[in-house]
Amino acid sequence: MTSTTPTTPERAARAATEIAARFGPELVSTEPELLLKTSSDWSRMSPILQEKVPAGRYLPDAVVRPRSAAEVAGVLRIAYEHDVPVTPRGSGTGNYGQATPFDGGLVLDLRGLDTIRVNDSGTVTAGAGAKITAIDAAARAVGRDIWIYPSTKGSTIGGFVGGGSAGTGTVEHGSTSDGFVLSLTVAPMDGSGTTFTVSGPDVMPYVHVYGVTGVIVELEIATDPARDWVAVYAAFEDWASMAGVHRALLDLPVLPRLASADPPALVPSLPAAVALDPAQHSLRIIAEASTATEIEALVVAAGGVVVASLADYAETDKLSSMSYNHPVYFLQKAHPDRTWFHMETGGLAHWERPDDVRAVYDGDVHLHLELMGSAPLAMVVADYVSEEEALAGIPRLEALGLGVHSPHQWYVDRHVDLAREVARTTDPKRLLNPGKLVDAPPVDTRVNIGVR
Ligand SMILES: Cc1cc2nc3c(=O)[nH]c(=O)nc-3n(C[C@H](O)[C@H](O)[C@H](O)COP(=O)(O)OP(=O)(O)OC[C@H]3O[C@@H](n4cnc5c(N)ncnc54)[C@H](O)[C@@H]3O)c2cc1C
Repeated sequence: MTSTTPTTPERAARAATEIAARFGPELVSTEPELLLKTSSDWSRMSPILQEKVPAGRYLPDAVVRPRSAAEVAGVLRIAYEHDVPVTPRGSGTGNYGQATPFDGGLVLDLRGLDTIRVNDSGTVTAGAGAKITAIDAAARAVGRDIWIYPSTKGSTIGGFVGGGSAGTGTVEHGSTSDGFVLSLTVAPMDGSGTTFTVSGPDVMPYVHVYGVTGVIVELEIATDPARDWVAVYAAFEDWASMAGVHRALLDLPVLPRLASADPPALVPSLPAAVALDPAQHSLRIIAEASTATEIEALVVAAGGVVVASLADYAETDKLSSMSYNHPVYFLQKAHPDRTWFHMETGGLAHWERPDDVRAVYDGDVHLHLELMGSAPLAMVVADYVSEEEALAGIPRLEALGLGVHSPHQWYVDRHVDLAREVARTTDPKRLLNPGKLVDAPPVDTRVNIGVR
C-alpha cells in the first residue's frame, strides 16, 4: 500500500476541524464568499498587482476568527502541528498584496482582539484587531493623541504596525519604526502555543514585516498630550506658491499633524468638506490651533487664500481621509475609464523641480504631496502603459535625487535581514504569510523614501 503526503487543503481541513473542536465551531469558516474576500487586499490599486494577485487566485482553505491572544496561540500550535500556512489579517486594506494567502491554508482574522486600555502613563495598550478610530477616540477622551495613524483610520492597529508605515502625525513622529510601538505581544509559529512580549528596540523585527516573524496579538503605542487641532484648507494659483508654503510649515513652532498638497487635476475627485475650486492647487493642513494665524500669514504672503479653518476634531479626520494613498484612489474611482499607477517617492525635487519629476513618465502625470521630516513624500501618479514602463521610471526618479518605493510588489522590504534571522526561531517551518519573506525578490523592492 502506498501512502501519499496530504495536500495543503487536506492538512488545513484537519487543522480546522481540530480548531473547531478545541475552541468552538464559530471560530472557523469555509464559506466561499468569505474565502474570496480574504484572498486579497487593496492591491487592486496597482494595475501590476491587479494582474498578478487578483481576488480569487490565491484562496485560503479556511478563515479562523480568534477572540483572544490565548486562542491565537492555540490556533498557531495546531497549524504548526499540521504544517498549515497561516496569513494574519486585520481589515485587509494593505495595498501591496501583503495579506494574500499565497499558499492557501488559514487566514487569521484578528479583528476579534479589540480591547483598548489607556494606561496611567498615557500610553495605549490595544488588541491587534482594535480599530484605530476606536483607539483614537479612547485616547482623545482622556486627553491624549496617538502619535500616528494612516488615512485608512478604520483599519486595525495590528495591520497598521504589521503592514503600514506612516500617516497623520508622521511630520513630527516619523514612521511606525520610529518609537511609536513601545511593546508588542507576539504569538510565534513554533509549536509552543504561547506568546511573548518584547519592548524597545526589540519590537523592530515585528514591525512592517507582514507577520512573517509572528502574529502580533497586543501592542502598546505612544501618545502625546492632546492638542487642539484645526483643519485648514488653502488654495493657490500655482505649484511653486503652494510648495513654498508646504515647505515653510516645517518651521512652525508646533509642527502640523498633516499637510497634504495636490495639483488641480486631483482636486475635483477629493471628497472635501468645503467646496474646492477645481482650477486651484489645494493645500490641506491639520494644524495646532495656535499656529493657524501664522499659517494664514504664510498663505496670504504666497498669494494664496485660506478657504476654511474648521475647529471641529471630526473635520481633521476628513482631511486625514484625503491623505497619503487616498487621492490616488479617489482619482481612480473618478476615472474608471482610465488606468493609473503610482510610485511612492521622497525628496526635495517635488518642491524644487516638479516639472522634471513629471517628465519621468509620458502622458498625464500628477504629484500628490505629504509633508515629512525634512522633505516631502509624493505619490507620483501617471497613466499606466506597462509594468516595464512603470518600473523603468525608478532609476529616472532616483536620478533626480528622489528615494523610491515601488508599491507594485509584496515582498518584506524593511529590515529584511533582521526579519529573516528572527523568523528562523519564531517560524522555523516558514508557515507564516508564505511568499512575502524571500531571499532574492525578483522585482524591485527599493524603499529609500525617507520613511522607514
Ligand atoms: C486608499 C488607501 C490609503 C492608505 N493610506 C495609508 C496611510 O496613510 N498610511 C499607511 O501606512 N498605510 C496606508 N494604507 C495601507 C493600509 O490601509 C494601512 O497600512 C492599514 O493600517 C493596514 O491595516 P489593516 O488592518 O487593513 O491591515 P491588513 O491589510 O489586514 O494587513 C496588513 C499586513 O499586516 C499583516 N498583519 C495584519 N495583522 C497582523 C498582526 N496582528 N500581526 C502581524 N501581522 C499582521 C497582514 O498579513 C498584512 O501583511 C492605505 C491603503 C489604501 C488602500
